[in-house]
Amino acid sequence: MSVFDHKEFDNHEQVAFFSDKASGLKAIIAVHNTNLGPSLGGCRMWPYANSEEALNDVLRLSRGMTYKAAMAELKLGGGKSVILGDPRLHKTPEMMQAMGRFVEQVGGRYITAEDSGIAVSDIQLMAQNTQHVSGISAKYRYDGGEADGNPAPSTAYGVFVGLRASVEYALKTDLKGVRVAVQGLGHVGFRLAKHLHEHGAELIVTDIYPQGVEKAVEEFGATAVHPDEIFDLDVDVYAPCAMGASVNQDTIRRIKAKVIAGAANNQLAEESLGEVLRQKGVLYAPDYVINAGGVIDIYHQRILSTAQAMRSHIEGIADNLTEIYNRSSQQGLPTNVVSNKIAEERFKK
Ligand code: NAD
Repeated sequence: MSVFDHKEFDNHEQVAFFSDKASGLKAIIAVHNTNLGPSLGGCRMWPYANSEEALNDVLRLSRGMTYKAAMAELKLGGGKSVILGDPRLHKTPEMMQAMGRFVEQVGGRYITAEDSGIAVSDIQLMAQNTQHVSGISAKYRYDGGEADGNPAPSTAYGVFVGLRASVEYALKTDLKGVRVAVQGLGHVGFRLAKHLHEHGAELIVTDIYPQGVEKAVEEFGATAVHPDEIFDLDVDVYAPCAMGASVNQDTIRRIKAKVIAGAANNQLAEESLGEVLRQKGVLYAPDYVINAGGVIDIYHQRILSTAQAMRSHIEGIADNLTEIYNRSSQQGLPTNVVSNKIAEERFKK
């Protein structure tokens, strides 16, 4: 398996492989770039088919964190870790403790947090062996509410302010009566739907599980549709808040919305679809810009700032998007390309 020649290598500063025979841990930590500060990014546990697949994932994700942190103007770099295995079958406390030792060995150049398959309790086990963790305690919430350490409320608020700024830019209107299709009513999507409802938007929602959908119908007067119907709707905004790659060669022909703005990571199946959206006149809010509320939250908890400072920082997502949209229209470039350029201006020395 080649690392330096890997198509996703992109000048990573460090890629460390770790194995612990006693607990069965096999993990990779990737540190993409630390120009702005120590790298921060979640630890994902996933039943990868092989180590090549795990390497591919960790390299792609850690690079994404560099761009997300730089765009959000955090004094953080980008990194990520992956554990090879099925969290439901293979995860043990000993394995999490071993992962803590691994994180410690990287010497503070990588700070870990939750991601798919890794819960707060797992990070607490890692924290027995390293101080380089985040996302296990929170002192405050952006809105003054009681903090429980979950960054999703901040992510949802950031997506909401970003979506509102995108609608103002593209449709020259506030959210009253604007039709928004929300895909995925999980931790972020449901909270986003609540903000949108409170600001007068009309909601069409979907999820593969009924609980969130039923609640949104009851509490927000939302209209429920089948998961596959969400792309064909006559709506103003499509808000992907489920999994990645929901904008792909198939759905891009079906989406009628004029704005795409949602929480999901890696929304475009291929980067080149950004240009297709631009040509179709669809305003795309780059995913790592609009969904940065959670990492902004974690950053403020780390620097022991205040709820008000965190809230203003999250609201800055709207300014970042407006800057991207202005440059995109001046330069005739897709928003995802412009966004990458701005992030690079901020983190490349
Ligand atoms: P979640 O797992 O709580 O919610 C995702 C929801 O999407 C679930 O309810 C799931 O049933 C639903 N879903 C899955 N596939 C679907 C499909 N095909 N059609 C409709 N619904 C489907 O996750 P979350 O924390 O709300 O995160 C949502 C997205 O936002 C993810 O892509 C995540 O990576 C991204 N994100 C989350 C945060 C955060 O703070 N939680 C931060 C940044 C980015």
